[in-house]
Amino acid sequence: MVETKRWNVTKTGTTNEMIIIEAAQLLKAGETVAFPTETVYGLGADATNMDAVVKIFQAKGRPQDNPLIAHVATKEQLYQLVENVPSYVEKLIDAFSPGPITYVLPSNGTCADNVTAGLSTVGVRIPSHPVALKLLKTCNIPIAAPSANLSGKPSPTTADHVWEDLNGRIAGIVDGGPTGVGLESTVLDCTQDIPIILRPGGISIEELEDVVGKVMVDPALQDADATEKPKAPGMKYTHYAPEVPMWLIEGESEKIQAMYDKLAAEGKRVGVLANRNTLEKLNVAEKISLGESLEDVAANLYLGLRKFKQADVDIILCETYPEIGIGLAVMNRLRKAATRYIEN
Ligand code: AMP
Ligand code: MG
Repeated sequence: MVETKRWNVTKTGTTNEMIIIEAAQLLKAGETVAFPTETVYGLGADATNMDAVVKIFQAKGRPQDNPLIAHVATKEQLYQLVENVPSYVEKLIDAFSPGPITYVLPSNGTCADNVTAGLSTVGVRIPSHPVALKLLKTCNIPIAAPSANLSGKPSPTTADHVWEDLNGRIAGIVDGGPTGVGLESTVLDCTQDIPIILRPGGISIEELEDVVGKVMVDPALQDADATEKPKAPGMKYTHYAPEVPMWLIEGESEKIQAMYDKLAAEGKRVGVLANRNTLEKLNVAEKISLGESLEDVAANLYLGLRKFKQADVDIILCETYPEIGIGLAVMNRLRKAATRYIEN
């Protein structure tokens, strides 16, 4: 056990100079510090320091073969970590960075070997959250930062979630309030002539194609039987799992109601996760609203998955969403979190 410091900062990070400096000093000294980004909270460590990066894997219980994303403050710093950058990357950076997109490019060896899990490529991202940017600028080193949760659990969208998982295991948490997008960055393989989405996220395929034309999706993402090996090693693990089993139910609200009634009649305590419109049509006791739009659903999803506890429910029923825009990322996370998928 270590003592985990917790600092409160404003969302802009501007009035918190001393806190940011203290957190940056810990990072430069090889410690781990969690901080807010516009996607989810990240658990940071010096990406050039192997021993510091080991602490991330230990704190999270993360499998050794799952590489970490290096976070930097500027385009220039991004280029300092990689080589052989295709010309379309420049266009993507200009359009979407800082923002929720990670570029997988050939590593030039600046990041420690355990950041890349021994791969020849490294994932690099410029986050847009003012606190993250301020911290990265103050450190002036690349910071490896996976989501700041215990491996397998839903990613943290508030500092309380980080505290729940990692108190006593990391040096500090910078609390900048709830994150924005609520789902992780889009991971884009930029080592080929055509970019390939390895993990759908905050920037949609539609937005990417508007800027660079054709974009592909890693076939492993669409392969329910997992015969394809995912190119983002992290995608093969159980992820985002709530405390209790979750069933995804395709179709209209009547189908959720019917399943709810059946399970309730068997004596099961059932929780429902759905957007407001759907919940209004249902007669259920335990429910969490994911809001209205697909963007709301993305922002509230991990909170919803974490809120249902074993003490309260035996099973969660959740509706499905159209796989357009951020919906592709929402459904990717829901499929990974679910124990069963009931087709229409
Ligand atoms: P997290 O940091 O927890 O959001 O997870 C990072 C995701 O990016 C995981 O799915 C990783 O497997 C993926 N990733 C990071 N670096 C690379 C890389 N060099 N090549 C392919 N996937 C990567
Ligand atoms: Mg993660």
